[in-house]
Amino acid sequence: MENAYFPLLIPMSFMTKEAEHVEGFAPEVAVVTHAGGEKLQEPLAVRPTSETIIGHMMGKWVESWRDLPLRLNQWCNVMRWEKTTRPFLRTSEFLWQEGHSVYAAAEEAEEETLNMLRLYEEFAKNVLCMPVLTGRKTEKEKFAGAVATYGMEAMMHDGKSLQSGTSHYLGQNFSKAFGVQFTDKDGTLKYGYTMSYGVSTRLIGAIIMTHGDQRGLVLPPPVAPVQVIIVPIAQKKEGVLAACERLAASLKEAGIRVKVDDSDNSPGWKFNEWEMKGVPVRIELGPRDIEKDVMTVSRRDGFGKEEVSLQNAAETVKGILSDLSEALYQKAEKRMQERIVPAETLDGLLEAVNGGNFVKAGWCGCRACEDKVKEFSQATARVMAKENTAETCVACGAPSVHTVFFARAY
Ligand code: ZN
Repeated sequence: MENAYFPLLIPMSFMTKEAEHVEGFAPEVAVVTHAGGEKLQEPLAVRPTSETIIGHMMGKWVESWRDLPLRLNQWCNVMRWEKTTRPFLRTSEFLWQEGHSVYAAAEEAEEETLNMLRLYEEFAKNVLCMPVLTGRKTEKEKFAGAVATYGMEAMMHDGKSLQSGTSHYLGQNFSKAFGVQFTDKDGTLKYGYTMSYGVSTRLIGAIIMTHGDQRGLVLPPPVAPVQVIIVPIAQKKEGVLAACERLAASLKEAGIRVKVDDSDNSPGWKFNEWEMKGVPVRIELGPRDIEKDVMTVSRRDGFGKEEVSLQNAAETVKGILSDLSEALYQKAEKRMQERIVPAETLDGLLEAVNGGNFVKAGWCGCRACEDKVKEFSQATARVMAKENTAETCVACGAPSVHTVFFARAY
């Protein structure tokens, strides 16, 4: 992908070119009607997403099959007006990455849609230590203007779901609306196939609510700004701070993000402070440790203290960070698996959802039943399972067509 940047304000006429898109976003779009003390001839939408303005430019840039695929990525802020907001989870303005690609063939665009979903899933797992459910969204829950939307959903502590990333196959909906046409190898003029995908700062909310505990944040080591905090014990004693700095230097050299807290606060105060901030590993180093050539190490996920040799400290700490990452993932994965429960009736579904669970249940595929589930339980269809393993629809009892993960969502 190539990184690009497009304008924040989008002419309303662009927004209205794709009918389903404008209808879907209408309730959330902030519109600039006045500027420079005058009413604008054409109002401008504050981008809720950039398919339209990027589609407009793709229409100008794409001419031949040689121009394809065109793969763009933009890091920016967008705005979707919210009546109630929650920091990191649902805010009117948020920061994200939005990718937009155009391909000559439908299969290529579809494949890329699934590739990006997989990339997000791997990122969630390997970098954020966070298990997710992925799958296709129902028609009701899909992106406005998409042919198909795929999402990744993470289970928060309270059993609610957080949509943490989406990837959309847009077919020719936007290329037709914006004239994204190319001359193919056979000389004929064709419309391209587009797709888009995005993740936002909502992932920070997901980290907080997946790993955090009563003592505060628990940051996954791969993304923790400070991975190791060194707290000197009796730091005024000769040689203690120097030993801490030597240890920090050796860790830094091995690529570990480390800090020595040499402030005047007491060690106990420092322990609490860094625990609350979610620093994965704490090392205490005092005169007695130095004498024995050891350091005292604690993991943020709370498995007590361990005395380990100062020899090969960097290797040891790397191992601990890696074990901690794995443990965070396993803990969250276990919790999620334990709290995905089946249901065959609406009453069963409600009870499970009230208990803070995701519900895996059959669905006949009709919108009325999906609406009924929501009305009855405030749970929505998060994603559809890859295979239909249920027998009957949880709402009407007809044969199941899709097995769906239902949950209350942020
Ligand atoms: Zn049904």
